[in-house]
Amino acid sequence: MPQYIDSHAHLFFEEYGADLQEVLNRAKEAGICAIIVPGTNLKTSREAVALAEKFPEISACVGIHPHDASGAADEVLRETEELTRHPKVVAIGEIGLDYHYDFSPREKQTEVFAAQIDLAARRNLPCVLHTRESMADTCAIVAETVRRYPAWRAGSSPRRGVFHCFSGTIEEALHVREMGFWVSFTGNVTFKKSTSLDVVRALGVSRFFLETDSPYMSPVPLRGSRNEPAHIARIGKMLAQTLNVEELELAWATTFNAAALFALNIPDAEGGRSLNSDKVPVLE
Ligand SMILES: [Zn+2]
Ligand SMILES: [Zn+2]
Repeated sequence: MPQYIDSHAHLFFEEYGADLQEVLNRAKEAGICAIIVPGTNLKTSREAVALAEKFPEISACVGIHPHDASGAADEVLRETEELTRHPKVVAIGEIGLDYHYDFSPREKQTEVFAAQIDLAARRNLPCVLHTRESMADTCAIVAETVRRYPAWRAGSSPRRGVFHCFSGTIEEALHVREMGFWVSFTGNVTFKKSTSLDVVRALGVSRFFLETDSPYMSPVPLRGSRNEPAHIARIGKMLAQTLNVEELELAWATTFNAAALFALNIPDAEGGRSLNSDKVPVLE
């Protein structure tokens, strides 16, 4: 059975208040072996950590989303940094710039994003990036951080972070990779207007991974309803078809990639291989 990682699911939202255990049971039945829960502000970052403490399959990211940047004083950033010392915190996120909604002034978004990507580099942690209509400015800050911290998770394979819910061009995806970052795709690839399938084809099976962005971004035909980790196999099946590979191969590659970025140790039920980022060879 294909084994997947849902690399981005906000399971602390009230949408899951009544039936989280059932959602997690369905995820397990659908072959999801690990779920990454990124925070969006200090409160939800703490909630993500609490979920990670409670459920072995969950790991947490802590960070202030650009929507919440206005509320992020120095003290909030200090407490976020404190949370990164928790053993189940695997990344800083989600952080970035959102010029589509502009819920926080852009100047403040930039300040809070820069402080947090700096934190990721200082603590040698990966980060989960949110960009919306802000690719150029996001990449400028990322490039500047990489320039200042050249040793930050350096290596032959990307280990610095992921541009989540990627909807950019092929050129942008290749640039992101050059900077040491992954791209991940959500149910957005199943939307009619999406141009991401061309990006998926250009990248090939070993150069991206998957997420649901639950409760958002439900894949077609579930679009508009609450999303959940179990739906990741729908994205996997579609992309396997797009790339003309077996679903098992796509699931293994994307699970491997996400495990490598977040340093997750995933026992592989198929062949007894362990997906430990330190022990397995680079896929390309
Ligand atoms: Zn996001
Ligand atoms: Zn998100």
